[in-house]
Amino acid sequence: MKVLVINCGSSSLKFQLIDSESEKVLAKGLCERIGIDGRLTYSPAGGDKHVFEDPLPNHTVAVSGVLAKLTDEKIGVIASLGEIGAVGHRIVHGGEKFAQSTLLTEEAIQAVEACSELAPLHNPANIIGIRACQELMPGVPMVGVFDTAFHQTMPPKAFLYSLPYEYYTKYGVRRYGFHGTSHSYVSKRAAEILGKDVKDLKIIVCHLGNGASICAVDGGKSVDTSMGFTPLEGLTMGTRSGGMDPAIIEYIAGKENMTLSEVLNVLNKKSGVQGISGVSSDFRDLESAAAEGNQRAQDALDVFTYRVAKFVGYYAAAMNGVDVICFTAGIGENDMAVRAEVMSYLGYLGCYLDKEANNVRGEERIISTPDSRVTAMVVPTNEELAIARETVAIVNK
Ligand code: AMP
Repeated sequence: MKVLVINCGSSSLKFQLIDSESEKVLAKGLCERIGIDGRLTYSPAGGDKHVFEDPLPNHTVAVSGVLAKLTDEKIGVIASLGEIGAVGHRIVHGGEKFAQSTLLTEEAIQAVEACSELAPLHNPANIIGIRACQELMPGVPMVGVFDTAFHQTMPPKAFLYSLPYEYYTKYGVRRYGFHGTSHSYVSKRAAEILGKDVKDLKIIVCHLGNGASICAVDGGKSVDTSMGFTPLEGLTMGTRSGGMDPAIIEYIAGKENMTLSEVLNVLNKKSGVQGISGVSSDFRDLESAAAEGNQRAQDALDVFTYRVAKFVGYYAAAMNGVDVICFTAGIGENDMAVRAEVMSYLGYLGCYLDKEANNVRGEERIISTPDSRVTAMVVPTNEELAIARETVAIVNK
């Protein structure tokens, strides 16, 4: 079956057409600046990248543009839309309602809408993408795959905040966690690579990208994760603060004469390694600046790696041990210096870096020494493939 995977944001839409039998990407691309002016980038497998600057006034026009490219006589990869067997939509928030991927019936879409309060920036955009696909591909089954679903196995001791309990029962204030599709894919893949059953392993997945989170996966199930009620909690990120003393919010609002939402905007968009360094949110820029003697860039890198190492410690304790530590996403897959620095904290676990093996980018590889008690590895994530697999599994149910 050919599955169209859609990841829809408020002004962007990423897509991949995946052949579920061969698991090959047939074409992929991105619509940007939807509702502003519009740019569609389209790359068929093995072919050149094409950029189209046609106006994209809304998401329906964007999806229609994507379908036109996929079926184009010259650059298309399918003869007709009839070849698309299903559409898999990445959905950010499934609340407590969705512990699994789901067929997007009208009732399910309404339940996703009901979760919008918990993800006001993301879920409405996801729903717009679903509606646009429904309009242009009537009758094609659509599946929703949620960033939060994998973490619904967390026990109350991991998901409850120490706040008045009624905030949980009345307003749904609890840890949900995100990047679930990635944590699930990477933990399963790590077990496969090691030739073991995921049920027999305690795995810590470090998803280190511009957004970053860590997950404790015990026996294949998420038992704790660093992102919380929103993706703001936990690790230091590209521009997000991660965890901090909440009292700082009122203090800074007073000092800088800001509203609460202005302070939250700073915590989301102007903090993290960008905020500490004043240089960039991109680790390549930070490392060049630090190499040239920029101390704030070095501090940002140190804060980042130190916090990753602390979370590994939390989760080793939470699971009463750890067998495997995985590095994934933009930084985890590509940045050897960050991996080496994080690993420098892990000697107490009996996890030691094999420097030569660590000299790798974007490849599956064990990077701990053979005598390590805990295996460290690089496992590139593939959220689109995971969404395509889920989609086929739900459609074939
Ligand atoms: P993601 O959000 O997973 O796409 O990760 C994006 C981030 O990965 C970028 O902001 C960079 O900080 C980081 N990154 C990507 N490539 C490299 C690289 N070759 N070396 C170091 N960091 C990288």
